[in-house]
Amino acid sequence: MDADHPVLHLMYHRVTNGPSAHPYTVTASRFEEHLRVAASAEQDPTRFFRPVFTFDDGHSSNYGQASSLLTKYGHAGLFFVTAGWIETRPDFMCWSEVKQLYANGHAVGCHGLTHKLLTCCSEAELYRELTVSKELLERKVGTSVDAISMPGGRWDVRVLSACARAGYRRVFTSDPGTRIEVRQGLQVIPRVNSSLYDRPEELRRLLTVNSSALSRLRVKQGVKKSIRRVLGDRLYHRLWCVVLGWRDHREAAADLIRSE
Ligand SMILES: [Zn+2]
Repeated sequence: MDADHPVLHLMYHRVTNGPSAHPYTVTASRFEEHLRVAASAEQDPTRFFRPVFTFDDGHSSNYGQASSLLTKYGHAGLFFVTAGWIETRPDFMCWSEVKQLYANGHAVGCHGLTHKLLTCCSEAELYRELTVSKELLERKVGTSVDAISMPGGRWDVRVLSACARAGYRRVFTSDPGTRIEVRQGLQVIPRVNSSLYDRPEELRRLLTVNSSALSRLRVKQGVKKSIRRVLGDRLYHRLWCVVLGWRDHREAAADLIRSE
């Protein structure tokens, strides 16, 4: 692997054997096609970004399907887990599985404690979501954790400051792009959600250096953010969850509403 090879971080959630009603799901066979595209891109650093595979939430398929396929193709994944969901939700990993991912050469990062949108958290809630979750992960996995991904992709300057205070060094967003910024001493790292591409040729276009595919996604994301600014984070998230029928995040939204 060439350390100078520019990187595109990809974001996945669930990798299932069959079709799923969950919107952020890829089938194992499609994920394997993505891994084949990645393998060919890695052969040509002048034309393609090097893909890095990241996973949010901690779904059980991260251990069951995703990690074994990653290993088959020689990739180390970066798994962001919602610490409070481990061993408390039936479809999510248990601690021994998270620990095993790390033992198998994959990296583990934090995705909050309860998946609350960090932009909507009070200071006390930020402490729980950022610090309590980090300490829990570190204790259970037996390693230090310096990376966090933003639940629901939401972040702002206040959230970044809180992440820095909590001891993180890398913040992974859901904003498409490749340019890593340093803000408040943190690396702010963009990622492309797998819901924005599916067919292998779409991924290949995204990985192509100087293609317009990424800039088109950035424009789309900009429009989405503008709508979110107008509606406010809570209302936008509630509408989004209703549209997607995404139960886990709908519950998170309900928590937010209850906490108002
Ligand atoms: Zn998430």
